[in-house]
Amino acid sequence: MAELNLNDLHDTEFPLPDGLQGTFAITSLSKIYNWSRRNSMWPMLFGLACCAIEMIGTAASRFDLSRFGMEVMRASPRQSDLMIVSGTVTKKMIVPIVRLYNQMPEPKYVLAMGACASGGGPFKEGYNVVSGIDKYLPVDVYIPGCPPTPQALLYGLIALQHKIDGQSLANKDDVPWYGVGPSEPTPIPILGPDIIDPRQMDLIRRQAELIAKGLPHGVRELPPFQLKKSAPKKALATATTTESGGGGGIERDAAALEIIKRKRLEALARKKAREAVTA
Ligand code: SF4
Repeated sequence: MAELNLNDLHDTEFPLPDGLQGTFAITSLSKIYNWSRRNSMWPMLFGLACCAIEMIGTAASRFDLSRFGMEVMRASPRQSDLMIVSGTVTKKMIVPIVRLYNQMPEPKYVLAMGACASGGGPFKEGYNVVSGIDKYLPVDVYIPGCPPTPQALLYGLIALQHKIDGQSLANKDDVPWYGVGPSEPTPIPILGPDIIDPRQMDLIRRQAELIAKGLPHGVRELPPFQLKKSAPKKALATATTTESGGGGGIERDAAALEIIKRKRLEALARKKAREAVTA
């Protein structure tokens, strides 16, 4: 367990006299909450390929994950905060990986370890390999290398700690799990002749109908799934129209965004009303 240093916890907005440095701390709730989370992050105990051997080496005595409070690798996703995707992600394995991710409690993080997990690595475009775990799960930290050394993994874990330090309980866009209402589970991909992402089901269906009528059906391969948060609304609309020749999906996306926006505004109004009553 990392040693408690009060200077790390102290908020620099409130200067302390020299005599009290290191013995006294004035801090915010976010800072103390993040400090406790970053120093007790429990990774899930699973590995996929050669990169996993380096991950195991990192947990052994020479490198010692205990310094980060991360030595307790959990065999259950329900007790894990961090998923280290260490190795080649095959189309067969992506299904249980997404299911395990859904079973992890929030706040949860994903670390893509090595070239395979980050983008397919030496097997990219292989018939049985997924070209990067980020096509299905939101990745927080990528570690390059084939395989990355234990030092590189430690660097990635430190980068994740820095990311947690910068998160605020008040910023709902930064940490979606503090937002309004329960978050949606990630759809579990369907393993067919080729892997299918259920979020692209409308597009797949429209393409199949065009193929059945003998009409040109646009792109041969489906475009990668875009997370709604990172995709600009306009670009998403243009892409869907060009590829599918129809606008039904866009209307549905816009309606869903409208509902989320309305719920957020309602929650903010409720919060303001509560604060007004307390004041
Ligand atoms: S990145 Fe290299 S070492 Fe890691 S799983 Fe892929 S092939 Fe193996």
